[in-house]
Amino acid sequence: MIPFLDLRAQYASIKEEIDAAVLRVLASAEYVLGDEVAELEREFSAYCGVRHAVAVNTGTSALHLALLALGAGPGDEVITVPFTFVATVSAIVYTGALPVFVDVEPMTLTMDATKLEAAITPRTKAIVPVHLYGQMADMDAIRAIADRHGISIVEDACQAHGAEYRGRRAGSIGVSGCFSFYPGKNLGACGEGGIVVTSDEGQARTMRMLRDWGQESRYHHVLKGFNYRMDGIQGAILRVKLRHLDAWTRARRARAALYSSLLREANSVRAPIEAAGRSHVYHVYAVRCRDREGLKRALSTQDIQYGLHYPIPVHLQKAHADLGYAEGDFPRSEAAACCVLSLPIYPEMTTGQVEQVVSAMEQKAYVH
Ligand SMILES: *Cc1c(COP(=O)(O)O)cnc(C)c1O
Repeated sequence: MIPFLDLRAQYASIKEEIDAAVLRVLASAEYVLGDEVAELEREFSAYCGVRHAVAVNTGTSALHLALLALGAGPGDEVITVPFTFVATVSAIVYTGALPVFVDVEPMTLTMDATKLEAAITPRTKAIVPVHLYGQMADMDAIRAIADRHGISIVEDACQAHGAEYRGRRAGSIGVSGCFSFYPGKNLGACGEGGIVVTSDEGQARTMRMLRDWGQESRYHHVLKGFNYRMDGIQGAILRVKLRHLDAWTRARRARAALYSSLLREANSVRAPIEAAGRSHVYHVYAVRCRDREGLKRALSTQDIQYGLHYPIPVHLQKAHADLGYAEGDFPRSEAAACCVLSLPIYPEMTTGQVEQVVSAMEQKAYVH
């Protein structure tokens, strides 16, 4: 069996460090926020090349707070893409603002900057590009338009820890960048977690208050806040894992490079594209295939797990039918939803396993 990812293998490889970090927190009794979380904020903001970080309980909360700190609310519009995990859109809805979609680029499946300007109205409060699969959106083009209209950018970097655009790290180009530490993400907690990074002092201050009941000081609630605090144990674990992240990213990129070189010969699928100037961290290695059902069968027969990211674009999800979109509105997102398939990829995966996946894809039953 080849799993889609192997968190047990990751834990085994750093068990002593993780166990020691957890025991340290248990002994300190700093179970919520505390020194470990504060240190994580310092280390992760430095990692991204920004001044501040505010650790929270999920990536969704990170997006929610980043939008609230910009003042997004009822009567505002926030532009994003329909080809993303639903949380991007839910976070916009939580603020009371209206999500407005623009379609994605055909090759990278990230926001198509050439379609952005037409979606801007006087009500547009923010633009939320999604760094899908671990590859950043075309940030120069998006920023040029955002700047021209005086609109802020919040990066959904939940899949893109350490990804780069022309040498700049994910999360450092918009006013703020939001990350998820869900266990399966490239940097994952042993439970839930998230963080917002920003170089804007005022934004950081507002988000710090909002995550902890809007308190300016104890029991002085100056904002209508939330309980979005990060656990001390997660902070300590994430600090350990952050030290390994660059090595893990190199391993992911090596697995992806091997896949892409082997797949070039099997022309029934198309390997993902790494656009010029964008360094992909391969949270997901998604191929585009002509016969997805056949490919699913071939992989299942060989006991190889796979994923679909994502089979239904958000504008066609029942939960968001009230937005009034219909089939045909975003043809590239809809086409991608039909033909993407995510192959196993994780740092501990062996080159032999990558070869095994590719050979399973070349089975007669699938190629016909
Ligand atoms: C994972 C993810 C989120 C949400 O993060 P959670 O920590 O699960 O709340 C948001 N956007 C994208 C693109 C994601 O992949």
